[in-house]
Amino acid sequence: MPRVSIDSDVCIGSGQCVLTAPAVFDSDDDGFGLVRPGSEDGRGDPLAQEAVRACPAQAISFEED
Ligand code: SF4
Repeated sequence: MPRVSIDSDVCIGSGQCVLTAPAVFDSDDDGFGLVRPGSEDGRGDPLAQEAVRACPAQAISFEED
């Protein structure tokens, strides 16, 4: 099962992930990206992989195992 995660040390809070794949990503109170609880598998949403490309900080990893 794929696993989506955000490296919070790298995230710059641009919000691109939330705009690109709102079913998978949300932002915290400070505007930094987070993976919605229960959406760590990417929900089969191709937009999750699009968000990986859209992130300007390359903070999102999408691992297939
Ligand atoms: S797109 Fe990347 S840098 Fe922007 S909020 Fe999401 S994880 Fe952070």
